Amino acid sequence: MKRVYNFAAGPATMPPKVLETAANEMLCFGDSGMSVMEMTHRGKAYQDIFDETIHLIRNLMQIPDSYEILLLQGGATGQFAAIPLNLMTDYASADYIDSGNFAHGALVEAQKYGTVRVVASSREENYVRVPEFDPAVFDPKADYFYITTNNTIYGTRYHILPDTGSVPLVADASSNILSEVFDITRFGVLFAGAQKNIGPAGVTLVIVRKDLLGRPSPLTPKVWDWTLQAKQGSMLNTPPTYAIYLCGLCLKWLEEQGGVAAIEKINIEKSKMLYEFLDESALFNGIAQPISRSRMNVTFRTKDPELDALFVKEATTAGLCNVKGHRAAGGMRASIYNAMPVEGVISLIQFMKDFEVRNK
Ligand SMILES: *Cc1c(COP(=O)(O)O)cnc(C)c1O
Repeated sequence: MKRVYNFAAGPATMPPKVLETAANEMLCFGDSGMSVMEMTHRGKAYQDIFDETIHLIRNLMQIPDSYEILLLQGGATGQFAAIPLNLMTDYASADYIDSGNFAHGALVEAQKYGTVRVVASSREENYVRVPEFDPAVFDPKADYFYITTNNTIYGTRYHILPDTGSVPLVADASSNILSEVFDITRFGVLFAGAQKNIGPAGVTLVIVRKDLLGRPSPLTPKVWDWTLQAKQGSMLNTPPTYAIYLCGLCLKWLEEQGGVAAIEKINIEKSKMLYEFLDESALFNGIAQPISRSRMNVTFRTKDPELDALFVKEATTAGLCNVKGHRAAGGMRASIYNAMPVEGVISLIQFMKDFEVRNK
């Protein structure tokens, strides 16, 4: 069976080469005589795979030694609780920007643990842009300042990061990590679920500045205690061993593509092609406001929800799958993460052009 172009928001498309390598190594990894899935996480064979994965993340993102790299479970959603539990312990207060459903979910979760100040929000406008923010209202006595670097559902992205002074910036980068060069030193914590741009579901990457460790609330579940997990090399209990191995393969693939700066250029090109088409089209319109457009999730629609449904149906038949928008946003969404080739985007645009001619 032929593989389709999968525009799903996550779990998302993976590089075919990674899947082939995993298939070839499924029964026997190297000379271990077993599948990675069958290895003890306490043995050298698996530790080497794990260390290599951490090493690749550190190199690709140029993360200095002053940051700890953790691979945890519970998804980005788990971190919505872990963040206040690990950080909201000096002032019991944090500033949040409400820029989308996931940002909102994070701040609702944090409210269980302390005071949450929403310092900017675009909720009233159904999150069509990242809200403007005024540093004058930021609290210098916040334990941290929280943003979502890319809003997966609405297709928006911060083009300028807030300057939070000495308050640590904590960022959910689930849907644009590794898609563009981030200066990690701007962040206290950068975290991401793996299933968009790192690998398969089941792993959560947490990059935390070391000076922020050592202050968890005593109520922190130990699997989400960053300080403890850092001491134990993310192996306080059994890590998601096979998913981490697959992340390692994806990271090697990214390195072969030239790394983050090289893939960023391609990502800019891919998203530009789609937005240029949307801006010219008489049938399709982009949903996110141009100043906030994401390079990873491109949201669009026609003027007619029935036509949107027809488009999704016909696109699927044409092998352009999962272009239906999230129920909270409506319309369509094409997620074009690192592993989506340029050819996939070109095919989608060609199909949209044909659809437009047929449905004038
Ligand atoms: C997908 C996503 C999440 C949720 O991730 P889970 O791993 O399902 O918990 C959170 N934040 C953002 C920005 C996402 O894209």
